[in-house]
Amino acid sequence: IFQLSLPLNFLGTIYREMRQNLLDMEVLYKLVEENQAPKDLPDAKPLALQGGSIRFENVAFAYHPDRPIFRNLSFEVPAGKKVAVVGPSGCGKSTIFRLLFRFYNPSFGQIFIDGQDITQVQLESLRKAIGVVPQDTPLFHQDIMHNVRYGRLDATDAEVVEATRKANVHRTIEKLPLGYKTQVGERGLMISGGEKQRLAVARVLLKDPEILFFDEATSALDAHTEHELMRNINSLLLEKARTSIFIAHRLRTVVEADMIIVLKEGEVVEQGTHEELLRAKGLYYSMWQQQASLEAVVAPEEEPDVEV
Ligand code: ATP
Repeated sequence: IFQLSLPLNFLGTIYREMRQNLLDMEVLYKLVEENQAPKDLPDAKPLALQGGSIRFENVAFAYHPDRPIFRNLSFEVPAGKKVAVVGPSGCGKSTIFRLLFRFYNPSFGQIFIDGQDITQVQLESLRKAIGVVPQDTPLFHQDIMHNVRYGRLDATDAEVVEATRKANVHRTIEKLPLGYKTQVGERGLMISGGEKQRLAVARVLLKDPEILFFDEATSALDAHTEHELMRNINSLLLEKARTSIFIAHRLRTVVEADMIIVLKEGEVVEQGTHEELLRAKGLYYSMWQQQASLEAVVAPEEEPDVEV
């Protein structure tokens, strides 16, 4: 009996762990998926990546037929370039990612990655190619090491640590009494919004996909930490020639983008570099002016959330 119970106990532990992981993956999918993903076409092929260029062509989309989000959205992100999408709240910035990840299909028009219509490729290969740092990242009731490892399940501890270093959160983790073994998530240690965002960035850097999507990924950070993190992210993206899309309310995070797309009421109203858009004195210019005057008032109050 003793001989038998040992392996059974062991199996029990593995089983419980597997169940927990599956459960967590389910939670993740439920949180992220929002609805049933469209199925693959019978002849769908894996996405063949050639640098990760993105093209939206005359895309129309509505969550509800009586309220169109996009009527005719077209834009292009060349392979290896950094594009920022800005615009008033609710104009459809996050929806761009939901369409790109195929949570929904456009009602009209097409989306291409490296020339391939994304509705024609295998969903799994599409999602493997894209990494996202969403507005609010789910953390699981597990330790920090596991939480970051969700980016790539076969990553070693050293690779996880390397990712957290790049995401400027390694030193913060090290200072915790249990370090990387600190339990986070619903019943775990309460961590700040900024720490959570940096763990989410570490997760996506570990995944290291061809295309990265940052949806307000640094909004909870103070100006200094945000600046440091953006500098790291930018140099990594450049070094690896990754294609990226940034959504940001704080325009100072998009100043260096190769191109800024300004959305309003579901359409691109302006696009260009920061300097070009300032010169154009349109919507971007007025958003910039407005933020600059707000920041002048708010900045001295900020509490630095820095890695020291
Ligand atoms: P913000 O800057 O405030 O994050 P956004 O520009 O990213 O906004 P989206 O999240 O893309 O905007 O949403 C665009 C519009 O679609 C909003 O009016 C939103 O209320 C609506 N919307 C978003 N998700 C859904 C959904 N699942 N079902 C119905 N309407 C939705």
